[in-house]
Amino acid sequence: MEFILEISYLVASITFIVGLKMLSNPESARRGNLIAAVGMVLAIAATIFFHKDAEGHSIQNITWILAAMAVGTFIGYLMAVRVKMTAMPQMVSFFNGMGGACAALISLIEYNTHPSHETGFLIVVLLGLVIGSVSFSGSMVAYGKLEGKVKDLYLSMMPIINGAIFLAIVGVSVYGIVNPDMFDNGLLWIILAASLIYGIMFVLPIGGADMPVVISLLNSFTGVAAALGGFLYDNQVMLTGGILVGSAGTILTILMCNAMNRSLTNVIIGSFGGGGKAGPGGDGEDKVAKTITLSDAAILCAYANKVAVIPGYGLAVAQAQHVCHDFDKLLSEKGVEVTYDIHPVAGRMPGHMNVLLAEADVSYDKLLELEEANDGIGSVDVAIVVGANDVVNPAAENDPSSTIYGMPIIQVHKAKNVIIMKRSMGKGYAGIENELFFADNTRMLFGDAKESLSKLVSEIKEL
Ligand code: NDP
Repeated sequence: MEFILEISYLVASITFIVGLKMLSNPESARRGNLIAAVGMVLAIAATIFFHKDAEGHSIQNITWILAAMAVGTFIGYLMAVRVKMTAMPQMVSFFNGMGGACAALISLIEYNTHPSHETGFLIVVLLGLVIGSVSFSGSMVAYGKLEGKVKDLYLSMMPIINGAIFLAIVGVSVYGIVNPDMFDNGLLWIILAASLIYGIMFVLPIGGADMPVVISLLNSFTGVAAALGGFLYDNQVMLTGGILVGSAGTILTILMCNAMNRSLTNVIIGSFGGGGKAGPGGDGEDKVAKTITLSDAAILCAYANKVAVIPGYGLAVAQAQHVCHDFDKLLSEKGVEVTYDIHPVAGRMPGHMNVLLAEADVSYDKLLELEEANDGIGSVDVAIVVGANDVVNPAAENDPSSTIYGMPIIQVHKAKNVIIMKRSMGKGYAGIENELFFADNTRMLFGDAKESLSKLVSEIKEL
């Protein structure tokens, strides 16, 4: 029995590693996800049916466990099939919070059931409790922010209050570890409450546009908390899974900070994208943006040598990925070189644009990453910005007072012609004006991105 369990855990760990590796390419990502999920089912089933505790007892209450799993699976399935692509970050944050809550509960339960409270055990219990609770409450606030239900709150005292709460948690925990006899459940509840408050206070002041970084950071916290659960249960697969989530989350956090050219500290205390002040152009009322007709846009694109599509959040809202691919195919047939310039934080989750375009069967070779896109942007005849705003805002480069200053952008302002497809002069996620709309080489094509692209395709066909 023990042997079957060990082998199952080994196989499951391998599926996690292989699955994670496959997630790095859109073509293999779905299969990778499935492989890791099969590994997870195997690990759970093996634990339920073959695990024995130190006294050789099998797992009890299997009916309860299976019933809870059925309820959880049903709720998870419903949420997953119903969620809109644009609301994926919220869901990731919500599920991540659940993982943190589980890790904290494991610590609470294990403290009460474990026979001895030696130092090593206490450290693992406390770390799991604190990190899991911070991840839970922080993720719930991040979820609320992305749903638009929780507003950013920044008070100048917050860093001091947060520092005090953090020190209190560390102090009480150290006291408990040094004096295990005095350390009772009451103290554990106090640490739990303080950690939950810390998670809320930690995420509340962070600006909306930084939420992906925060979610990724909290994700890595949950991974670490789950790995600590693996220590408590002496369960290798939980340890492996937790470490993989923890390290993947950390790497993603670093990559996103690099993509925005900001440090993690700046993200955490920067209040970025919290409806900050307007960039150059003020409120934009004194400037007039030029528009372009569909037929002029069609001529410009059809007779261009190079067209770059810059997709953003609006592409996801309009679900314009398929018609965007039609537009690309049509131009390519006419001998126009078409590329998709992808900003790493375009949309509302890392890889958002890649997922949408892969869904529409856009060839992966046509997707350019930020640096490569900017290297060639000067020779682009027409840059078509489809529902993107912040990721093409030149204020990030030339206005030090802008809240997005320092974030790398796709430098569409350097293209020969720029067509912006959006519904209005409305702002993007960071809530700031975009001077690009008023530039000499820019023309606005107002309307829903899907409708505008469909009409553009029809116009080009008629040329
Ligand atoms: P933005 O949010 O800056 O802008 C999107 C634009 O799309 C809006 O200005 C809106 O203008 C337009 N739009 C909305 N609906 C439609 C539609 N149906 N048809 C056409 N246009 C539409 O998007 P970007 O992708 O440029 O930037 C992403 C922002 O989100 C960044 O600030 C980033 O930091 C942040 N973020 C990124 C995450 C990630 O991981 N990718 C996660 C969370 C936030 P209008 O209303 O006028 O149509």
